[in-house]
Amino acid sequence: ALGGNAILQPGQKGTYEEQLVNVKTSAKNLADMIMSRKYQVIITHGNGPQVGAILLQNDAGQAMFKVPAMPMDVCGAESQGLIGYMIQQSMLDLLIDGGRPDIPVATLVTRVIVDRSDPAFKNPTKPVGSFYTEEQAKQLASEKNCIVINDAGRGWRRVVPSPDPKKIVERMAIKSMVEDHIVPIVCGGGGIPVIEENGKLKGVEAVIDKDLAGERVAEAIDADVLLILTDVNGAAINYKKSDEKWLRKISVAEAKKYLTDGQFAKGSMGPKMTAAIRFIEYGGKRAIITS
Ligand code: ADP
Ligand code: MG
Repeated sequence: ALGGNAILQPGQKGTYEEQLVNVKTSAKNLADMIMSRKYQVIITHGNGPQVGAILLQNDAGQAMFKVPAMPMDVCGAESQGLIGYMIQQSMLDLLIDGGRPDIPVATLVTRVIVDRSDPAFKNPTKPVGSFYTEEQAKQLASEKNCIVINDAGRGWRRVVPSPDPKKIVERMAIKSMVEDHIVPIVCGGGGIPVIEENGKLKGVEAVIDKDLAGERVAEAIDADVLLILTDVNGAAINYKKSDEKWLRKISVAEAKKYLTDGQFAKGSMGPKMTAAIRFIEYGGKRAIITS
């Protein structure tokens, strides 16, 4: 599971060239792992900045050129293609350089089932897309039947639910790809959230945490290792305090205790640790959180 930093560094504008350089750097270590053939690698990644940009482009296109805006699930699918393409391109370059251009890498548009009765739907918390004035935001809220909040004093923004991922819709396709020795890029941005309705699937306007979704992928393929790559070397207790202590190898019981003690921030390290705990409890061998 590649963190946001692997694709866009803080302070960067987000041009294609910038993103491609970052993706190439991140892909290097994975390419070595893939070429060693010691591991079969399944890649997943975040999409925060990219889906944010797509939502802004949507708003601008609608306002200026009357191009209909797409719903969030469609924007999520767009971001999976955008990022998957960059990873495929970078990976192929590296595989060619390493003399293994025969290893196929492919991106799969991936949906994730969430529970329509998930409490997150009653309490949307995740800010997405453009910033608005209070007046614009309230108009948007009544027109689109969505919820807006004042985001940390920076302006008004739409908030969407962040429900818990339950099951990967494309799990059989992912399994087949792995069995065929294809390196799959799946579940980008936490996957496209869908709910079950009358026996069918319907896309919903929500955002799934990519680490929790990545863990569901790991379950689906019975992975040995869940490797969460981020911008810190690991998880710490008393993070950023004078008695900060970086954790090395810990048990599930310790992880659970620290989590309930509030040692890991809700929107960042919290879901990583929850994913790690879930994976080991499911039967995984190791979960690693590192840079
Ligand atoms: P990613 O894009 O990789 O998911 P996040 O920003 O969501 O990145 O999560 C990584 C961040 O978690 C780190 O940059 C760090 O600031 C933050 N963090 C919060 N609590 C902790 C903790 N207890 N130990 C280490 N990092 C923490
Ligand atoms: Mg994160």
